[in-house]
Amino acid sequence: MVERRRGIRIIAFIFYSIATVSAMRKVWKLWKAYEEKQMRARILQDRRERAERLEANRNRADAADIRNATSDVDLRLCVVCLNNPREVILLPCGHVVVCVDCMERLNGTCPLCRMSFSRTHAAYVS
Ligand SMILES: [Zn+2]
Ligand SMILES: [Zn+2]
Repeated sequence: MVERRRGIRIIAFIFYSIATVSAMRKVWKLWKAYEEKQMRARILQDRRERAERLEANRNRADAADIRNATSDVDLRLCVVCLNNPREVILLPCGHVVVCVDCMERLNGTCPLCRMSFSRTHAAYVS
């Protein structure tokens, strides 16, 4: 009688263990699925935020472009390539109108006043 009861207890324990393990596995799987879903949602959220930021930046850049086109861009960009900032002062005429790249292609003549320049110096247009 005692032996049988112990046997039942052992069997019950084994069943209980299996049930617990499978239940834990199920919970684990659910948790993993939940985590994965969360991660996916986070990634999607990040992507959306990035897109929104990009869009906002583009709008700002557009606005800045429009402002620049109408005002200060001409005063700061090299008059030859209209691409680089003005970087050098031509001496002796003193004009600050070109970037270093274009300065080398000027053959010693200021593009603004056509005076020949003999010296150049780094200019800081702020
Ligand atoms: Zn240039
Ligand atoms: Zn000049």
